[in-house]
Amino acid sequence: MGFDPSLIYDWNRVEGPELDLQRPPQLNDETLRDGLQSPSVLDPPIEKKIQILHLMDELGIDQVDLGLPGAGPRAREDVLRLAREIVAAKLRLHADCAARTVESDIRPIADIVQATGMEIEAATFLGSSPIRQFAEDWNLDFLLRATEKAVKFATSLGLPVMYVAEDTTRARPEVIHRLYTTAIECGARAIVVCDTVGHVTPRGVRSLIHYVREEVVKPSGREVRVDWHGHSDRGLAVANALAAFAAGVDQVHGAALGIGERVGNTPLDQMLVNLRLMGAIDRDLRKLREYCQVVSEAVGIPIPANYPVVGSDAFRTATGVHASAVIKAFKKHDVELANQVYTGVPSHWFGLEQKIEIGPMSGKSNIIFWLEKQGFQPTEELVEKIFVRAKRADRLLTEMEIQELCRPPAP
Ligand SMILES: [Zn+2]
Repeated sequence: MGFDPSLIYDWNRVEGPELDLQRPPQLNDETLRDGLQSPSVLDPPIEKKIQILHLMDELGIDQVDLGLPGAGPRAREDVLRLAREIVAAKLRLHADCAARTVESDIRPIADIVQATGMEIEAATFLGSSPIRQFAEDWNLDFLLRATEKAVKFATSLGLPVMYVAEDTTRARPEVIHRLYTTAIECGARAIVVCDTVGHVTPRGVRSLIHYVREEVVKPSGREVRVDWHGHSDRGLAVANALAAFAAGVDQVHGAALGIGERVGNTPLDQMLVNLRLMGAIDRDLRKLREYCQVVSEAVGIPIPANYPVVGSDAFRTATGVHASAVIKAFKKHDVELANQVYTGVPSHWFGLEQKIEIGPMSGKSNIIFWLEKQGFQPTEELVEKIFVRAKRADRLLTEMEIQELCRPPAP
């Protein structure tokens, strides 16, 4: 028996498709650049970075930021190894490297392109907001000169340029206009709109992207890719990135588990989940948890239990009312029903399973279900024994504790 979609009335689609896109949404994985700027991370060994690179590719991520080779010899060596791996393993990932708008950051990218033969975009970045200009004693002329010089220099080395105006969400329209237009005229093929400090709300994203598309990109008469790069300071990164796609950006940047500067970047795993749920992508995401776990271990940042989808509690319940509905659905032999009756994210899409556990909020149906699943006979006496014990506990019972209660008393 198949799952009947009319069992869910979907308010998300009342006004039309949730995300009405002209082109497939692209994702740029910043885990190995912005992600490693998180104050709490360890810079993982190269073997781990290579493993992460492969997982990005398996999840169908479009592009990867390999790092900032201008940062020093270790960074340069790692970027080179990663670029070599993409070529050798024939990964589908496109690549870019970050660079300040200075020649000493741009030249190492060209050297890596030379050594590997793979195309790498130079993501040259420069602050654009009045507050940043004031703090740095920069004026518009300086910014325009730096932009022109950097984009022309990168282009002269044969590098495609992705021009990044930092802090765009707090920059004046005339400055945004002049900086991007200069970059495009000097040869940039992509521009990145940035919420560098996590300031913007979805409404601001809409206004800003609309401005950039209508006032900058269209009048340029060129094919220019528009990217969105946002941060989580207000906890709005995913909502903002989805608003950016809805407003017409081609690519969104993010990092596994949302790691990055301060409280981090847009969580790329959550973008994959939402794009899939919205029907904007259709790909196998069963490696999503592995990707998050490998990154978590590699950088030394644990995944919180209550983290969406890949946290250990994402599909776990011990509450009587919830568990009882899930169990009844399982008994109808309908996994899709069981996996949607009490969560908006069907676990089997991500290779994961619902777990029914036993605790003080549990009913007897949890206990019977648990016992049957583990191959124990749910006698009235045993169910009662576990029920009494669970009601007295101040947390869920562990598997060991329940198994202990299932053991027949010693003769
Ligand atoms: Zn960033």
